[in-house]
Amino acid sequence: MPRMPIALRACFGVALCLAACTAKAEWLAQTRSMMGTEIRVELWAENAERGSAAQQAVFDEVHRLDLMMNPMNPDSELSRINREAAQEPVVTTPEIVEVVQRALYYSDLSGGAFDITFASAGRLYDYRGHVKPSADALVQAAEKIDYHHLRLDPEAGSIAFDQPGMAIDLGGIAKGYAVDRGIAILRAAGITSAVVAAGGDSRVLGNLGDRPRVIGIRHPRKDGEYAALIPLQDTAISTSGDYERYFEEDGVRYHHIINPRTGGSAGGVQSASVIAPHGIDSDAMSTTVFVLGVEKGLAFINARPGVEAIIVDSEGRLHYSDGLLQE
Ligand code: ADP
Ligand code: MG
Repeated sequence: MPRMPIALRACFGVALCLAACTAKAEWLAQTRSMMGTEIRVELWAENAERGSAAQQAVFDEVHRLDLMMNPMNPDSELSRINREAAQEPVVTTPEIVEVVQRALYYSDLSGGAFDITFASAGRLYDYRGHVKPSADALVQAAEKIDYHHLRLDPEAGSIAFDQPGMAIDLGGIAKGYAVDRGIAILRAAGITSAVVAAGGDSRVLGNLGDRPRVIGIRHPRKDGEYAALIPLQDTAISTSGDYERYFEEDGVRYHHIINPRTGGSAGGVQSASVIAPHGIDSDAMSTTVFVLGVEKGLAFINARPGVEAIIVDSEGRLHYSDGLLQE
């Protein structure tokens, strides 16, 4: 065979590969355990190889955020903040600064119903081990819950606590943020139809062919059943429930959504779901609405254009925000 110029040979190689290596269009779906829950990435890939690389990039990003924000891991950046921020301002990562800034925004907006310093008391519970604080310990710890004692300096990128005994936990907002990051990665990779979910926080990109995707809201008391099915397109939905992490003692359900005023579990509803354009917002607001309860929660949501909510109250009745009732 006559020798080919190098450029032509390279071209020939590409053409051969195009014929032989082009991966087919495919729907890809994978689930992995991270952030204390199941992370699911589903996407429509015109090219399966590139789609699978994008899917892997989402898992890598969620893993990175998990290492950074996990309060149970002593080596995480968040644990370092909890150890050091009462002594001096801790210069931290841009991701934590962004999430804490948004958390403080919702604390102000909700009159303190959403408050990442809930962890000052929240860390005394171990739901899996059925451990709760004594009444005295709870009163003392609950005094340390107040986001006004959390000083965020966005320019310096630092966080300080202006009292000892405080702690923060991003569990009510970090999964929604992770889901947003996942969708951003997929969009940058040219994906136009996908779902990224982290437990009860999902964000939908595009739709399924010519139809919107239908997302189910878990029934708070019947495993495997849905309380409602909602068609969604290019939006996020988060559900906060009293069934995710809990134990019962003397007929009381101790669960992981804390009323910052008492340090005890928030009562009044079984689950709160919020639909908003971004996961960071739907996540923070689902926790917020859960703490606020049916009436105040619906008023909070109805005052925010483009945001909707579905609440299951303590009797199992469904309540909808105004925008959902009009449609
Ligand atoms: P899930 O973790 O079940 O998806 P949520 O979004 O409601 O549900 O988050 C619950 C988590 O939020 C808790 O595990 C805890 O980390 C955090 N959290 C609990 N109470 C509050 C609160 N009042 N404000 C902010 N975060 C909270
Ligand atoms: Mg939440």
